[in-house]
Amino acid sequence: MTQPLSEKYDPKAIEAQWYARWESEGAFHAEPDPSRQPFVIAMPPPNITGRAHMGHGSTYAPMDILTRMHRMRGENAVWLPGQDHAAIATQNVIEKELAREGLTRHDLGPEKFRERAAAWREKYGHIIYEQFRALGFGPDWQRDRYTMDAGLSRAVVKVFIDLYREGLIYRGLRLVNWCPHCQSTLSDSEVEREEADATLYFVRYRDEQGGPGIVVATTRPETIFADEAVAVNPDDARYAKLIGTNVVRPLSPVAIAVIADAAVESDFGTGALKITPGHDQTDAEIGERHGLAATSVIGFDATMTDAVEPQFRGLDRFKARELAVSTLRERGALEKEEPHTLAQGTCYRCDTIVEPLLSLQWFVKMKTLAAPALEASRSGRLRFTPERYQRTYDDWLERIRDWCISRQIWLGHRLPVYSCANDHVNVAETAPLACETCGNTTLTQAPDTLDTWFSSALWPFSILGWPERTPELAAWYPTQLMITAREIIFLWVARMVMMGLHFLGEEPFGEVLITPLIMDEQGRKMSKSLGNALDPMELVAEYGADATRYGIVSQMHAGQDVRFSITRCDDARKFGNKIWQAVRFALEKFPELESTGADQTLPLPPVEEWTLSDRWIMDALARTIQRVDAAAAAYDFSDWSQTLYSFIWNQVCDVYIEVAKDKAPTRAPILARVLSSALALLHPIMPFVTEELWQHLPHAGTRIGAGPWPRSGAGRLDSQANAEMATLLEFSKIVRDLRAIPQMKYRDLSEIHLAGADGELLDLLRREGGIIRTMGRASAVIPVALDNGRPRHALSRRMGPVEVLLPVDAAFIEKERAALRKEIEKLRADIDALERKLAAPGFREKAPPDVVQKEQARLLELRDHLRKSSERLDSL
Ligand SMILES: [Zn+2]
Ligand SMILES: [Zn+2]
Repeated sequence: MTQPLSEKYDPKAIEAQWYARWESEGAFHAEPDPSRQPFVIAMPPPNITGRAHMGHGSTYAPMDILTRMHRMRGENAVWLPGQDHAAIATQNVIEKELAREGLTRHDLGPEKFRERAAAWREKYGHIIYEQFRALGFGPDWQRDRYTMDAGLSRAVVKVFIDLYREGLIYRGLRLVNWCPHCQSTLSDSEVEREEADATLYFVRYRDEQGGPGIVVATTRPETIFADEAVAVNPDDARYAKLIGTNVVRPLSPVAIAVIADAAVESDFGTGALKITPGHDQTDAEIGERHGLAATSVIGFDATMTDAVEPQFRGLDRFKARELAVSTLRERGALEKEEPHTLAQGTCYRCDTIVEPLLSLQWFVKMKTLAAPALEASRSGRLRFTPERYQRTYDDWLERIRDWCISRQIWLGHRLPVYSCANDHVNVAETAPLACETCGNTTLTQAPDTLDTWFSSALWPFSILGWPERTPELAAWYPTQLMITAREIIFLWVARMVMMGLHFLGEEPFGEVLITPLIMDEQGRKMSKSLGNALDPMELVAEYGADATRYGIVSQMHAGQDVRFSITRCDDARKFGNKIWQAVRFALEKFPELESTGADQTLPLPPVEEWTLSDRWIMDALARTIQRVDAAAAAYDFSDWSQTLYSFIWNQVCDVYIEVAKDKAPTRAPILARVLSSALALLHPIMPFVTEELWQHLPHAGTRIGAGPWPRSGAGRLDSQANAEMATLLEFSKIVRDLRAIPQMKYRDLSEIHLAGADGELLDLLRREGGIIRTMGRASAVIPVALDNGRPRHALSRRMGPVEVLLPVDAAFIEKERAALRKEIEKLRADIDALERKLAAPGFREKAPPDVVQKEQARLLELRDHLRKSSERLDSL
């Protein structure tokens, strides 16, 4: 049996306790069950170095919410968790740790380094999971997987070997970002681009007869040795005649062609570029279009190779630049020098200038794999919400290039590639005894590892045990829904679809929900450098997990980025407290509602016994359930949460609980039904407070999250009650407003006149006088038909075609008129002043945006006030 409900809502007192109980009772666990409808979401695996951020709020909270809802609906719902080894990020963390001990990874060697990483994961890898628990996320922890665990590693090796045998994986020479200090390739995202001062050299390439030829502008004269062509824009009239002729390279002189390529910008330098496919990414692309060779003249240690003039060999690349400049000057080829700024690529770890170099890497041929993945979205078997992201996905697949999957990183899946002493490549699950080409028996495994995204591309089936034919794979593949962020539509979503289709013949999911970006209130991206990033764990500490979750998802309108307002978390906490107090009230007024802990339901009385307000709240409940179901189906978490907010706050608390104070015999069972249904609908979003309160009310089953999900039959549609109650509430509000007039004496409210009211309305108002007294906060209201002319003096309000009149004496009217005129005068003066201030030249430009915003809001407020006061004056 539960403790009595404490007076105050305190998230800390309930959240950790409930989480521990859910986990120990296996509330999140599922077993494959072919007899039940599955609902499966594979969790995008967070990095083991990861920490919860606001993106987890907008992306992982929806996974938790939907899994909980589908479970309550009786489906076999499971959210499958796991983590990614995040090779680069993790290696970075370990290297930093080593640096503090005065060591580098080379002091340890790959084996010891990997051991160190495993120990690190053991110690810190699950911090993000603890944060997920604190946020109330409930994946099936018993099914936790890791991209480097034995099963997933086996899947990686099998996929590599299968693709290799099908000719879809190959080894080739390609330009990579190389850090000569770290001795590794870097992914594009690991290269930092910074503005740097440089010199632009104007170098003349003469034609073969020694004529003027063409002048190119370059910042890298030391790579002239590797030039394969000079390129100009095809529309550049200055060079039209030269296209197709040859010019001579001024260092290591050989003839190279002048080619035309639209990528050349005519207004940069002289409009002519030297093309060095071996040392520049753009040049490599131009070179590919024109069938140019790619030569390397700089080695992995950043010194010049032997493919240059003798005096340059072995020189550091920057020394070689100095020598190239002086040599060109001596040869009369240097026309001029100009200062220049360029975006220089540096290594994010050591700041060394990155050198684009050619190296032998492994690639996946993507066109074959992309075709069925493209067909999946075009045929509608794979759908995106919001729909516009299908374009992002399709565009990428249409323009797909081969995927470089090898990395010179120590952490990760080693390539199942073994070379013999004669450098033959053998691809096999384990080291072969002899080379399959030459029989040599000295085989060594390639040191490279696979791109982290290679293993995550297999995620939806590798976590289910593939390549084994497990019951999980049979029951839960394909999964139902993938929820993720837009940045990884190509990196991850498209690759999962390709691999799923290729290896299992079916898309890994039919639907992809792309979640919004959480920005700050001014619409800026949250970032460390701006200092505007919010930490969800701090929100949990301040407002509780329920309020944090509600605060985030209530701002998520389908498809729109969120300008996150932290006040929503505070509002959500107040909302939690409101529900808490509503249940406390119910338990105090109706002790028969206190749960005994046993399976217990309170049967509803027959409909004929229901009062109008009973019928009305049951109608509102039925409508609320329908609207929540529609919102959930559309992934409109904002509408879902706000529908419940207004139902619980405005209808249950503000109205029904007020009228239930009459303790009519129908109140207790209806209140129990309404409260426990509302709690169930809110449970996926605010799991803790709803569980705690549900346990105190009559209920069947052990946990709210086990269901059932309220169906609209839990309420009862009744449009007549809905309409009548709307009239009564509107009338009550008018009564309340009239009563709120400051100079009005309370007793003057007793008699209300209605002009233009029909018998039906009068009848309703008389019959439901109790509701009007409660909601109008008036001791006696006597609605009388206005047959014998209007009262001499009256305050008036309109209610549709009916005029509601409150008779007052002449003196009151005079006093009130005078007060209102004075008020209007002052408001007009204030508005004038503020309008002048806002229109003053320079104000909007100079004042901070939030000040301008505040003043504009105040102006709107003043105008609204003026309108209301004028209306009141008119009504007198
Ligand atoms: Zn580096
Ligand atoms: Zn061999």
